[in-house]
Amino acid sequence: MPLSLCVAGAARPVGRRLEGTQIGQASGAARPECGYETAMSADKLDIYRSKRDAARTPEPVPQPGPLPTGHDDTFVIQEHHARRLHWDLRLERDGVLVSWAIPKGIPLDPKTNHLAVHTEDHPLDYATFEGEIAKGEYGGGLVLIWDRGTYETEKWTDREVKVVMHGSRVSGRYVLFPTDGKNWIIHRMDPPPEPGLPSVRDLRPMLPEERKRLPRDQEAYGFEFDLGGTRAIAAVENRQVRLVDADGAELSLDDYPGLGALGKAIGDLPTVLDGQIIEVDGVPVYMIFDVLRLNGGMLFDRVYRDRRRTLDHMALRGLNWQTTPWFPGDGKPVMKAAKEQGLPAILAKRLDSPYVPGTRSPYWRRVPLSPDA
Ligand code: MN
Repeated sequence: MPLSLCVAGAARPVGRRLEGTQIGQASGAARPECGYETAMSADKLDIYRSKRDAARTPEPVPQPGPLPTGHDDTFVIQEHHARRLHWDLRLERDGVLVSWAIPKGIPLDPKTNHLAVHTEDHPLDYATFEGEIAKGEYGGGLVLIWDRGTYETEKWTDREVKVVMHGSRVSGRYVLFPTDGKNWIIHRMDPPPEPGLPSVRDLRPMLPEERKRLPRDQEAYGFEFDLGGTRAIAAVENRQVRLVDADGAELSLDDYPGLGALGKAIGDLPTVLDGQIIEVDGVPVYMIFDVLRLNGGMLFDRVYRDRRRTLDHMALRGLNWQTTPWFPGDGKPVMKAAKEQGLPAILAKRLDSPYVPGTRSPYWRRVPLSPDA
């Protein structure tokens, strides 16, 4: 595989973006001689490139060559639904995004340190990347931006990276340090932020407006079956499940045997789900159609399309719970199928809409099905 063999004074590859780049400033160090071995270490993105096929991944894969220069002050945290869900912290530094994969996400409590696996440097363009990496490709799965913002560097050595991040989901002083090869620890140095999370009993579900017919611009909506049943929000923390109904009244797990096991299925990440409990052959089944929290804070500002994709990637399926299907773009076949199944209604939810708790919102429409229509 041809590497960037000669960087110093070489012509730039055709098609390389020139705006905002400053030639010859790439890594700060003196440019290396031509040659295989020096070229290997010359380009910080060689490892990144070697793991990806530009023709098969939607990720940015820049040509080898001088790196752009930034201000060493931008960070991004991406939620990555790869084989194993994790959060990627990337700090812009010397023309690349220095990166760590954090299985439990950014710790918000100084008492809880999280593992942060140092991964290959990523190109600066990656800071805006969101999308679906195809199954089977490196890092296959959904990537969503969880937070981004600016940071200040207090210290940056091979043994210690100390930064202050200013984002919308995470702000504060953090230190990262290696413990064993690629394994680093991320530790919050500031006190925990104000909780700011609604108690699950204060949470009220988002409700649809009733409409006679499907929206005209169906391509802007996702469609779901209305399965009836009891609307229920499920909160999982420390593997324990709490269920509340649409009025915030606690539902006893004694009445819904089997649903307690959802806590184990979800695992350590604090999670809040929205759905309906229906009976299937006398067994209560929680039909999950939304995810309102997945680690960290609430996901109210994540748009419906991305919440649904997140939920799909969580692959929640068990004896007593299921993830309901959703169909973006065309409601007619959904309506037809719902009628055939004798369901009471279908729902149209705007793909680009946030979750507005406790509101009957025009973003969601419920279209009842009359049996003889
Ligand atoms: Mn990742």
